[in-house]
Amino acid sequence: MKKSDVYFTDFKATTTENLPQKLARLLRVADMPRIDMQNKFVAVKLHFGEPGNLAYLRANYARVVVAETQKLGGRPFVTDCSTLYAGRRKNALEHLETAYVNGYNPLTLGCHVIIADGLKGTDDIPVPVPGEFVREARIGRAVMDADVIISLNHFKLHEQTGLGGAVKNLGMGCGSRAGKMEMHDDGQPVIDPSLCVACGQCARHCAHGAISFVRKKAVIDEARCVGCGRCIGVCNADAVSGRFNETNERLNRKIAEYALAVVQGRPHFHITLVRDVSPFCDCHSENDRPVVPDVGMLASFDPVALDAAAADLVNAQAPLADSLLGQAGVRPGTDYFTALHPTTNWRSCLEQGEKIGLGRQAYNLIRLK
Ligand code: SF4
Ligand code: SF4
Repeated sequence: MKKSDVYFTDFKATTTENLPQKLARLLRVADMPRIDMQNKFVAVKLHFGEPGNLAYLRANYARVVVAETQKLGGRPFVTDCSTLYAGRRKNALEHLETAYVNGYNPLTLGCHVIIADGLKGTDDIPVPVPGEFVREARIGRAVMDADVIISLNHFKLHEQTGLGGAVKNLGMGCGSRAGKMEMHDDGQPVIDPSLCVACGQCARHCAHGAISFVRKKAVIDEARCVGCGRCIGVCNADAVSGRFNETNERLNRKIAEYALAVVQGRPHFHITLVRDVSPFCDCHSENDRPVVPDVGMLASFDPVALDAAAADLVNAQAPLADSLLGQAGVRPGTDYFTALHPTTNWRSCLEQGEKIGLGRQAYNLIRLK
């Protein structure tokens, strides 16, 4: 069976090589420099973290990735798309504020921050994809305009997908609001009448005439709504949200197909840091204690193999006693992702990724000293 190479190093630093330097060495040994970046736009896709959550990756790591692409002649920018839920990253202004507050700015990064799907999460490109569940992915325009894709991933557990790594960072993370709607649910948002203040913004921005008012509350006509998600982005009262009613299994498979839409036909490279392995997504505005000790840094040209390797490395650790895993009495040798989130199956995402040609689950783990 053919295997993909995944390069790994731990977080041990020395007086002659600190962690940023070690990450830079990992990228070089893993052969990122073989990508022709000369005068190319390089999208470095990551998650800025929801305010209040401190498990997200420090900007220092992104700075290393940016600097390495610049040495190769690339023109990098750091990017993400807006969220489907009402948090502090649901439009470009709030998302940029979050990025800056969490330490991601041109001074710390050495490049610009771009919210890839525009002011209200609607600036996307339909991308044909040979999937089973997705025919046309809706991807943030700036991501699709880039010549090279680099994903920088914080690896953690996830309440809907089991784990969050490279494939999720690409697939869910690069989806515009309409794309996220397609992955998460049956494609139509809902309005909470208790929050609606009847400002009329959603109705004005709905291009399909799907919103009307009943007793001074906005309501959506499901027969007309096409699930573009525009109404979510324009509601400053946070009254509109996605349904999040897709099964976790189908969600994972759609994410893999969206990830393929992002990388197909372009050079791509993936970096995962397994540290602060929190039990939930970085979209939470809090982070509980890590469930296992920090493990290390990984890099690969194959996002599927990268996630498989990171999952195996996490499962090889002993649960931390004071974490949700430890408190639940989960024993070593268990699959921690399904132990903590029993309705999820992270393998379905990787299986789907392999099936559609995104990557392979089998890997060679190459350890750097
Ligand atoms: S934008 Fe929000 S608050 Fe305004 S009418 Fe629509 S749902 Fe109600
Ligand atoms: S999702 Fe799009 S089509 Fe549906 S109600 Fe909202 S703005 Fe209109």
